[in-house]
Amino acid sequence: MPAPNSIAVETRLAASPASGRDLSAFRRALLGWYDRHRRDLPWRKTRDPYRIWLSEIMLQQTRVAAVLDHYRIFLERFPNVQALAAASEDDVLAAWSGLGYYRRARMLHRCAKDLVQAHGGGFPQTAGELQTLPGIGRYTAAAIASIAFAEPVAVVDGNVERVLQRQTGVNLTTPQTWQRAQAILANSRPGDFNQAMMELGATVCVPGEPRCLVCPVRKWCATQGEVPRAAPPSRQKKEEIWCALECRDGNGTDKVRLVQRPKKASLMAGMWELPQSSDPPRPWPDAAHWRTFRHSITVTDYTVHVLRNKSGAPLKALPAAKGKWIAIDRIPQIPITGLTRKILKAGGII
Ligand code: SF4
Repeated sequence: MPAPNSIAVETRLAASPASGRDLSAFRRALLGWYDRHRRDLPWRKTRDPYRIWLSEIMLQQTRVAAVLDHYRIFLERFPNVQALAAASEDDVLAAWSGLGYYRRARMLHRCAKDLVQAHGGGFPQTAGELQTLPGIGRYTAAAIASIAFAEPVAVVDGNVERVLQRQTGVNLTTPQTWQRAQAILANSRPGDFNQAMMELGATVCVPGEPRCLVCPVRKWCATQGEVPRAAPPSRQKKEEIWCALECRDGNGTDKVRLVQRPKKASLMAGMWELPQSSDPPRPWPDAAHWRTFRHSITVTDYTVHVLRNKSGAPLKALPAAKGKWIAIDRIPQIPITGLTRKILKAGGII
C-alpha cells in the first residue's frame, strides 16, 4: 500500500463513498446487508449498556464462539452492575475462568464498583464520559454509547481498520482511520452501522483472502481485495511443560491437587492451576504419561504433557507437586486457569 501522505489519501478516498447520495447508497447497502445477514448473537438483542459493555470486554482478543457460553454464565451469576460490584474478586475471576487475559475481569469489577459508587449503578450516556471509567477506552466507550444510547460516534477495531484500508487502498494512520469511520457513519442508526462495519470485517472482508464476490459494498471499494499482503512474522514462542493431574478420594468427596499462582504474578495472578514444571519429571513408578495438550497463552504456544495418577496412588513426579487438595465440587467457585480447565474437562473431572 502507498505511504499515507495527504495527496494519496485524498485521491484514494475519492474512490470510496465520499458524500451525498453516494454515501447514502453505501450506508443503505451496508445496513440492508447487516439486517439480512448478521449473526444471531445474544448481545445484539439488547440495548442494556451493562450487557453491551460485558460483551465488548469479553470479545477483546477472544473469538465469538469462545465468548458465548461465558457470557451466558457470567450474566446468570452477575445479572447487573450492582451484583457485579458486590461480588468478591475471586467470584468474578471464577466466572471469567477460561477466557484468559484476566486483567479484563479485574478492570470490569473495578469499573462496576465505580459505577455503583459514583453513578448510582447507571451508565453515563456519552462516549466522552464513558471513557473516564476504568478499563473503558475509546473503542469500548464508542461501542456502548452508539449501541445502547444511539450516540452518533464511530468505532474502530481491527475489523473496521482492515475494511477501511481496503476500501480506500491507503495505509491510513490511526487518526485518519477514526476520521474516516466517523465521516461515513450513518447517524440515524449509529449502533447498527458500527456493528455492520465490524460484522463485514469479521465475516466478509476477512484477514487473508477477502470474500469480495459477496461483499455488499464492493462497488465503493478501491482495492476489491487487490492489496499486496505479506504474511506477518510469527511472534509466537514455543515451550514445553509438565503438569500433574492428581486426584484422591477424600472420604466421599473427590479432590484434586491445585496450586495458587502468586498474587503478584504478571499473568493470571492468584488463579489456581495444576502443579506444573518446565523440567521433565524424573522417572517415577506411579507416574503415567496420560495425554499431551497444545495450549497458547499470549505469545507462547505450550506443549503440555500431563501425568495422571492411577487409582488414587500418589504422584510425586514433579518437583512443584505441592499445593492444596481442593474438593472437586468447589472448583466452579474458585478462579482456575484456562489450561487447568481444559485438562480437568478432558479428564471428565469437571
Ligand atoms: S470489496 Fe473486498 S476488499 Fe473491498 S471491502 Fe468488500 S470484501 Fe473488503
